Amino acid sequence: MTVRRCRLCDAELVTTFVDLGMSPPVQSFVPAERVDEPETFYPLHVRVCDRCLLVQLPTYVPAEDIFTDYAYFSSFSGSWVRHAETFVEGAVDRLGLGASSFVVEIASNDGYLLQHVVDRGIRCLGVEPAANVAEAAVARGVPTEVEFLGRETGAMLAERHGRADLVVANNVIGHVPDVRDFVQGLRELVADDGWLAIEIPHLPRLIAGNEFDTIYHEHFQYYTLLTMQRVLAVAGLEVVDVEELPTHGGSFRTWARPAESAGPPSAAVDRVLAAEREAGLHELSGYAGFASRVSRVRDDLVRFLLDRSAEGATVAAYGAAAKGNTLLNYCGVRQDLLAFCVDRNPVKQGTFLPGTRIPVLAEEALADARPDYVLILPWNLRDEIVQQLSYVEDWGGRLVVALPRLEVLDPVRA
Ligand code: ZN
Repeated sequence: MTVRRCRLCDAELVTTFVDLGMSPPVQSFVPAERVDEPETFYPLHVRVCDRCLLVQLPTYVPAEDIFTDYAYFSSFSGSWVRHAETFVEGAVDRLGLGASSFVVEIASNDGYLLQHVVDRGIRCLGVEPAANVAEAAVARGVPTEVEFLGRETGAMLAERHGRADLVVANNVIGHVPDVRDFVQGLRELVADDGWLAIEIPHLPRLIAGNEFDTIYHEHFQYYTLLTMQRVLAVAGLEVVDVEELPTHGGSFRTWARPAESAGPPSAAVDRVLAAEREAGLHELSGYAGFASRVSRVRDDLVRFLLDRSAEGATVAAYGAAAKGNTLLNYCGVRQDLLAFCVDRNPVKQGTFLPGTRIPVLAEEALADARPDYVLILPWNLRDEIVQQLSYVEDWGGRLVVALPRLEVLDPVRA
């Protein structure tokens, strides 16, 4: 058997955090013409490093296979675009950014965030590995380079465009298998007196909320503030401040700087570290117990679906989100228990969910089929979706979420 080594400290990985079995990559929606063809399933076995406590998933699927034709366009989520605008406003104030400033965003997607930087007359550059998504950014006026960030590309981009006053890396530092090379790329791109804003789901929140469905093959690392400090230190970057955020089920935004300009960390850094220590997450024993809570979530969902099926009730799903694919594959749910899934993204409509082969339809299919229950897969947008699906009440339908625990909700009229 292969010896797995920690990608931060190189210690042998021996402790399981959670093993979700086998699943295809969550974004590999199956087009109708390939529905009779096989799919490749990969393990989803997450370990925690005994020495540095970095929670990590091995590189089961090559990164190039996951990212180059990525189906996720950030601008399809209204609340996500608003979150980005609020961030840009706050960063411009906090750092006093103006006409002579330069902002770089890593994994800039379709320009959902940098468009707000462009609007303020500030020079910016997006760095995005998925060519089709980068094209959408360029089309809305956001200069974008199609690259994976590492030390070499960071140096090349700094040479070509200059070093940045602010480097934004939202929901990407978990997605890079060579995280040491990635943070060195960040260091190459940021000015010696510049800033980094790094946003990522916070592992203590994932654990507390049973959010195991946010584990995918392209999420290689899951961070506490402690392990974030350890990773950034590899490139001489220090954490200066931290903000806790509600996004993605509970995230944190780290403000970091090159060590030479960092200064002492804020009180918020001490507070978050103390809370992590209190939750037991600064020692290995604190990571035990998660796996058994995860299997309880699976048991509750499967029991619910079997019971509804036995009653002759129909269940459909809303939101062909990546996290739904982890959930449904782990739970072994198929079309006999979940008739179809609707999604507003036209790119996903007419395809089948990876692994489970549940058909993805336009939202109108709900009103046509009138299912008795609608399972909301993107529970992180639960409030928004409950409002949006208030019409399910017209035929006496009800809404369901599986996480953090199974709950049947009544539709809410706005
Ligand atoms: Zn380690």
